[in-house]
Amino acid sequence: MTIDQFKFAGKKAFVRVDFNVPLDENFNITDDTRIRAALPTLKKILVEGGSIIIGSHLGRPKGPADKFSLKHILKHVSELLGVEVQFANDCMGEEAAVKAAALQPGEALLLENLRFYAEEEGKPRGLAEDASDEEKAAAKKAVKESQKEFTKKLASYADCYVNDAFGTAHRAHASTALIAKYFDKDHKMFGYLMEKEVKAVDKILNDIHRPFTAIMGGSKVSSKIEIIENLLNKVNNLIITGGMTYTFTKAMGGKIGISICEDDKLELALDLIKKAKEKGVNLVLAVDAKIADSFSNEANTRFCKVNEIPDNWEGLDIGPETEKIFAEVIKNSKTILWNGPTGVFEFENFTHGSRSVGEAIVEATKNGAFSLVGGGDSVACVNKFGLASGVSYVSTGGGALLEAIEGKLLPGIAAIQE
Ligand code: AMP
Repeated sequence: MTIDQFKFAGKKAFVRVDFNVPLDENFNITDDTRIRAALPTLKKILVEGGSIIIGSHLGRPKGPADKFSLKHILKHVSELLGVEVQFANDCMGEEAAVKAAALQPGEALLLENLRFYAEEEGKPRGLAEDASDEEKAAAKKAVKESQKEFTKKLASYADCYVNDAFGTAHRAHASTALIAKYFDKDHKMFGYLMEKEVKAVDKILNDIHRPFTAIMGGSKVSSKIEIIENLLNKVNNLIITGGMTYTFTKAMGGKIGISICEDDKLELALDLIKKAKEKGVNLVLAVDAKIADSFSNEANTRFCKVNEIPDNWEGLDIGPETEKIFAEVIKNSKTILWNGPTGVFEFENFTHGSRSVGEAIVEATKNGAFSLVGGGDSVACVNKFGLASGVSYVSTGGGALLEAIEGKLLPGIAAIQE
């Protein structure tokens, strides 16, 4: 079933969204992108005369905690949706069931943070550190058992299930995947955001126009190995940048000063270089760096060859030569994936490289390339530089996007499709 086919009039929809927004110390939302991203789906249902039960998590609570309460965002959600959203203090309580049952067409109910219950994630909590393997296994079994009741109860609030939480689609949690079992094919569907994400991933995986270039930045090789190995089977050009640069440079015998480096990944870096060669992938690495004499925006800086960084200096961004090389590759591409900055873009003095990559992607997009930006920090980059509207798609998924591109079938997607 699709959201455009389903007739919501008079129906109650359980909509799983990702309202895991950042809050400041006074519980003000500092970035409401995720809420806005779910509005088309929520509004569509309300306008059609359906009602919505909104489920989400916020943060990583280990049980009920005021700090992670969704009541902090209730007012803002109401304002954005244009209706007075009701609130249920406990997603499993009598109040939630009663309020859900009483919802009239056009009304909305926000449930308290689903992760206040261990059953949402299906992982035991509060186990003693010295718990034996048997105790761990028993606790796991118990939470899996009670997870069924939890999931069934959530499902009982509604006539249909809509999943619009791409950010958690790689988790087989109660509200993101397991709940779908309680609805038949005609009563479960993706929301608009999920539909768009799934389409964008599909384009990168199955509708590749070449050359295909992936730009992988960020701090550590270790967190990106799987995706890099996987991309080697797909792309024509693989730009490896950000902090990962220095592990590769050191592995090839370069001097990297005190740049970030994973010494236990040097072999792996050489192996990836070899694999790229075998597969005919053009692996593109930095040739120069913007170096600093401390990890700070105020540090003294200069440019040098990437493999000649003096002692006590560290590379915090790419240099101008590298910018040119990267831009050239990007501008000649027809499919582009960008994940991770070229440097410490949080410091104004080290944003130049990431900005230049973003600008090259925008130019390639103008010339007909399909560009997908995703995975946390690169999204922050395109937003910071005001480039988001110039790329084809900005994903809301971090881990979910990377796993999808690795070719894994995400539980949240599979649950709707099966
Ligand atoms: P990731 O979460 O792995 O995508 O990494 C993003 C983080 O990598 C950002 O916070 C950047 O500041 C950091 N980063 C990028 N380049 C460097 C670098 N040369 N040295 C240290 N950190 C870096």
